[in-house]
Amino acid sequence: MRKKIVAGNWKMNNTINEGLLLVDEILKGLSENQESDVLKIIAPSFIHLNSISNKISGIKNLELAAQDCHQAELGAYTGEVSAKMLVSTGCKYVIIGHSERRQYFLESNELLAKKVDTAMANGLIPIFCIGENLSQRNINQHFDVIKEQLQKSLFHLSANDFSKLIVAYEPVWAIGTGNTASSEQVQEIHSFIRLEVEKKYGVEISSRFSILYGGSCNAQNAKELFACADVDGGLIGGASLKAVDFIKIINSFL
Ligand code: PEP
Repeated sequence: MRKKIVAGNWKMNNTINEGLLLVDEILKGLSENQESDVLKIIAPSFIHLNSISNKISGIKNLELAAQDCHQAELGAYTGEVSAKMLVSTGCKYVIIGHSERRQYFLESNELLAKKVDTAMANGLIPIFCIGENLSQRNINQHFDVIKEQLQKSLFHLSANDFSKLIVAYEPVWAIGTGNTASSEQVQEIHSFIRLEVEKKYGVEISSRFSILYGGSCNAQNAKELFACADVDGGLIGGASLKAVDFIKIINSFL
């Protein structure tokens, strides 16, 4: 059985107080709704991890993710945060390979493979982001780009390690633009990802791991996107900053 997952990526938003307030609103919203088996993940910036972890610890199906981690175990990397440090906050997941990290911090597929290894060696579960940009889609390169991202950053993993992680398909042209991919486009890519994983790891693993969609997914379009056969939930940016919207997206599975 594949897990249904909704993860909120806060990006570089919210002060400590704003973050705590948002979590309170999310908790209130969740308590007012029917309990579901959807795994909810909040991915705030590093400064929030410890305080939010204390607030949500022990709540069923609610977990914390970091937005990045460094590839080294520890050392002289001023400004960086290690996987072990993340684990010490109570964080269980980490977003790796977000397109903003690829674009603004020049993170390559090869570097991301190292981040995945370090995260997993420390017991963190990567939410690994892949996706093509607009010019790549316009020249019909999207399948090749995604295949390369999978091969260079994930396909060195053992079957056991691969089976633990989450993949998020996030077309760069849809992130923060309001240009949500259509459910047909999303399903096409998700089934392609599942097929590539099947070729590498076999059908048992390919049919069991979760693939999230991200890119202007919101309270209005989540239901249609989540209804696609190979979509197991969403990685939500902008719409995760408002508790009511985030809750509506979670409830899109009901
Ligand atoms: C994201 O940044 O992961 C994302 C999906 O953003 P948005 O929902 O704002 O497009």
